[in-house]
Amino acid sequence: MTITSNFKEIRESIQQAATQCGRSQDSIQLLAVSKKKGSKLIKEAYDCGQFCFGENYIQEAASKIPELPKKITWHFIGHLQSNKAKLAAELFDVIQTVDSLKLAKALDKHASVLDKKLSILIQVNIGVEEQKSGIAPDEAEKLIRNIRESTKLNIAGLMIIPPFTASPEMSRQYFKETKKLADGLAQKSLFSDNERVELSMGMTGDFQIAIEEGATIVRIGTALFGTRE
Ligand SMILES: *Cc1c(COP(=O)(O)O)cnc(C)c1O
Repeated sequence: MTITSNFKEIRESIQQAATQCGRSQDSIQLLAVSKKKGSKLIKEAYDCGQFCFGENYIQEAASKIPELPKKITWHFIGHLQSNKAKLAAELFDVIQTVDSLKLAKALDKHASVLDKKLSILIQVNIGVEEQKSGIAPDEAEKLIRNIRESTKLNIAGLMIIPPFTASPEMSRQYFKETKKLADGLAQKSLFSDNERVELSMGMTGDFQIAIEEGATIVRIGTALFGTRE
């Protein structure tokens, strides 16, 4: 399979999933997850009209991003420590994995210095798993209120990585819960744009189900670029 045909196929699957549940394709953004893939492959994807990419590791991103077209929008989707916030704010447009006030404040400080409007998503540990990053669902409201009060970050929505399950259908409950949580927070006008709240959920194995449950950003790596080392 070539990159071109992979993108064509995935875009068609997204469109089909959207149509089947009565959503417009424009409401769903394909984020190409390019971790552990080289700049050359990313450039190939860019040449097929893909302009937003997700990366997980700051050092890796720092070596690739400067080599690639400025037009690309970069999302950080890995675990971020506050001491890497400066580089993250420089390199990325959207940080999807904010789960503490400390991290939000660090990002805000560096974004201000750069005079950059940085967008964030709040990572929610929707399965309340012990080892996993993300804020617990019942603490999300408080965290967002604190970030609103003490930063100028654009709080665009929520991001989740559901617990590993034996079948994609079992992720559905977590997508539903995330949508419900986001709707409740939007009702209280806690996001920056409460008419268009971003929900980053769904990966290669379960993106169709995530779309049915309201995903606005699907993060797809393997189906586009092949398996990773
Ligand atoms: C690697 C990764 C993805 C992409 O996963 P695939 O199964 O390869 O599509 C999506 N989201 C996050 C947070 C990731 O780390």
